[in-house]
Amino acid sequence: MKEEIVKFRRKMYERGLIGELGGNLSLRDGKKIYISPSSVPVSRFSDKDVAEISLDGRILWGKPSIEYRMHLEIYRRTGFNGIVHTHSIYATTMACLENVLYPRDVEGEVYLGDEIPVIPYRPPGSEELAESVAKEIERSGSKAVLLEDHGVVTVGENLEEAFILAEILERVARVAYLCALYEG
Ligand SMILES: [Zn+2]
Repeated sequence: MKEEIVKFRRKMYERGLIGELGGNLSLRDGKKIYISPSSVPVSRFSDKDVAEISLDGRILWGKPSIEYRMHLEIYRRTGFNGIVHTHSIYATTMACLENVLYPRDVEGEVYLGDEIPVIPYRPPGSEELAESVAKEIERSGSKAVLLEDHGVVTVGENLEEAFILAEILERVARVAYLCALYEG
């Protein structure tokens, strides 16, 4: 399980979805979750750095990402087993500019639906952010949401699906941005 976190954090970095720091990811395994740590750069990140938290919020190992409350709340409210959070450039840009992101291309519509909600700004790491993101995913059933002025959250049946959707969302946001630029 910890190797999965290491593998997909590296992939996120290789695909340009995150920098050395920033963003986080987790997966659920029964009554606990594995989550990436706070403040460990990708280039010296190993499975020993992956934190473990019980679903009721006790930190069992390591130093989890400051967004661990958001991950826990999503798992408590939904049946998803993998979560990815990034600050990828185009998706974050659209999260600064729009109240809803409408995919312009067919790939976006097929995988992410007709509209991707943008959740109003809440401070990073806060209970308010955790609640508003988890409630919106529960309410809308959307596997991808944007966080105003902040970034992206995608969820999946497993970590691989959440990662793939984060990559698709970045492409969709890029296409939507370029279309808007062209149309003026
Ligand atoms: Zn963030």
